[in-house]
Amino acid sequence: MNLPADVSKIINTLESNGHEAYAVGGCVRDCILGKIPHDWDITTSALPEQVKSLFDRTFDTGIEHGTVTVLLHGEGYEVTTYRVDGKYEDGRHPKEVTFTASLEEDLKRRDFTINAMAYNDRTGVIDDFGGMEDLEQKIIRAVGDPEQRFTEDALRMLRALRFSAQLNFTIDPDTYQAIRKLAPNLSHVSKERIQTELTKLLMSDHPDHIALVSASDLAPYIAAHFDEAFDVPSELAAPSPYIRQWMPDGLPGEKYLRWGTFLRGVPADAGRILRELRMDNDTIKKAKIIAALFQEDLPENMYEIRKILSVIGYEAYGAFLDAVECLCRDVFGEESAFRVEKIHTVRKHIQAIREAGDCISLKELAVKGQDLIEAGIPKGPAVGEMLHRLLEDVLRVPSHNTREILMAIARP
Ligand code: ATP
Ligand code: MG
Repeated sequence: MNLPADVSKIINTLESNGHEAYAVGGCVRDCILGKIPHDWDITTSALPEQVKSLFDRTFDTGIEHGTVTVLLHGEGYEVTTYRVDGKYEDGRHPKEVTFTASLEEDLKRRDFTINAMAYNDRTGVIDDFGGMEDLEQKIIRAVGDPEQRFTEDALRMLRALRFSAQLNFTIDPDTYQAIRKLAPNLSHVSKERIQTELTKLLMSDHPDHIALVSASDLAPYIAAHFDEAFDVPSELAAPSPYIRQWMPDGLPGEKYLRWGTFLRGVPADAGRILRELRMDNDTIKKAKIIAALFQEDLPENMYEIRKILSVIGYEAYGAFLDAVECLCRDVFGEESAFRVEKIHTVRKHIQAIREAGDCISLKELAVKGQDLIEAGIPKGPAVGEMLHRLLEDVLRVPSHNTREILMAIARP
């Protein structure tokens, strides 16, 4: 394994001062899988104050949980003292922790065998729980007794599904049974934590693993009506096969698109579900529109296309069409050609609209609110209403987007 120079430096500094130190968790897992870790966590026998005394630039990230961030060359490395966890209550950290001198104790508190390995150049890989073998077999397995581990922290159940999607692994049968049994415990977990894991799952290379949320009985404890996203009435599924709950391969990576595609079976509840999960407003807004678009046929004429673009913009609509195409190919296979042809036609129209520079938003309208006020429209809601009426006209007939024509329409 090749540790980055700064990680080696942190480990060596700790070791030469009489402490133990290892790279640990996700970075070890990813290295063994041949992936580039996105961050490096270090675990050490040194106490936080000792860590701080050994490095020039540190800050207290979660000092009460034993975590100090060491800054080297502009990069932060989380260095955490070996610990045993108490009950998990908030987002990332257990409510109370006890430091320990034993690496094995620290590894034992971690969620899955593949996340419970440590490494340094002196000792090589420390793998007390069979993480290496599970990586080879592509298995997500709880460290220790799964029921006990999911009782301590119910979010781990969702993390199991998330890692299965990110790595395309299966979940060990005992671990999976424990999830099905303890699924109701998820209702004690904060919505933010749930949302973070679901978003990582949907953003992964295997978003179809979202089906496990339903299969494992976790769905009813995610948010009100969430389980209905998996359970689309067949009369809806029949005319429009994209409505069936199915996450296709190759979807564009945008968060709103992944969520909107997933929630396409419950367009009326999409916004509420995402709000309950504390999703950011921009994502909610766009995901709702995407979910609703799946219910409609593709637009038939330029006006309909401009109208959609005025609501959602070029980027999101392009991503939506890519998603529809992925679904078509997945659902219809060889027979998708005809439908894909329709999508291509819409894309060509979009290109033409873009090249013509057609007005698709109030920003591009040839008159502004001030113009209308000066022409005698009373300040207040009437101005906005008129602007929207004018935009609607211009979406139908782009050549109307001149000051002269629009003022003629608007004049009271
Ligand atoms: P990634 O950062 O790529 O999402 P990761 O494995 O680094 O994956 P993190 O959530 O960053 O995941 O957690 C770092 C490590 O901390 C994990 O590898 C695991 O060992 C441990 N860990 C994190 N959350 C929990 C938890 N809820 N219960 C037990 N151990 C956990
Ligand atoms: Mg991590």
